[in-house]
Amino acid sequence: MTDELFLEDSYLKEFDARVVKLGGREVVLDRTAFYPGGGGQPPDKGALGIGSISASVVDVRRVKGEAEPGIVHVLDNPIPDSVRELRGALDWERRSAHMRHHTALHVLSGVIWKNFRAKVTGGQMRADRARMDFSFPGEWTTEVVGEIERLTNQALAEERPVKVYELPREEAMQNPDLIRTQVNLVPERVKMIRIVEIEGLDTQADGGTHVANTSEVGRMEITGHKSKGRQNKRIEFVLR
Ligand SMILES: [Zn+2]
Repeated sequence: MTDELFLEDSYLKEFDARVVKLGGREVVLDRTAFYPGGGGQPPDKGALGIGSISASVVDVRRVKGEAEPGIVHVLDNPIPDSVRELRGALDWERRSAHMRHHTALHVLSGVIWKNFRAKVTGGQMRADRARMDFSFPGEWTTEVVGEIERLTNQALAEERPVKVYELPREEAMQNPDLIRTQVNLVPERVKMIRIVEIEGLDTQADGGTHVANTSEVGRMEITGHKSKGRQNKRIEFVLR
């Protein structure tokens, strides 16, 4: 198992770890700050090394259902099998951009639910843009989209704290916000569910990394919107 340091501290940029498994370009560590991807947030990039040995981390993924589950770091070139300890460093510019876009997506999700009773059906973030899909029953006009942008920027500017904590499964299943955002999809075996709450706006079961306050997100600008069928609507945005 790999201790997932990013769950406790999303601002951790560097860490030391022991090598659990090393094979060619793939390394499993006992602890890592590298996010393995999931929930629309891409895997991190960065570097692993010790002394004169160094390699770029080009991909990260969670390995499940094996005898030794953990987080695998894929390197650009192999490092010697004699290496027992490594220092990791994230590509922080890229990761912090993912965090800002991820929090922006949750704010957007809260805004469209509170104002339009529309539910999120999907989302994806990059370092320079993000998109979100909704089940939106009304007309998808430029005016509505403009109103969503205005309300989202208003919520971001309200400097709302972003809180991360765990709830026992039974308790999470009683919370209306968590029911709406499909907490039931979290696998049965998970007894403590990680919650990301944007104070007074949005509460979701979430495994991703976020900024600590909406003021760190900046301003969002909707760069595109389309209707993908009667219900399904999409917004694309960038952050300024
Ligand atoms: Zn999320």
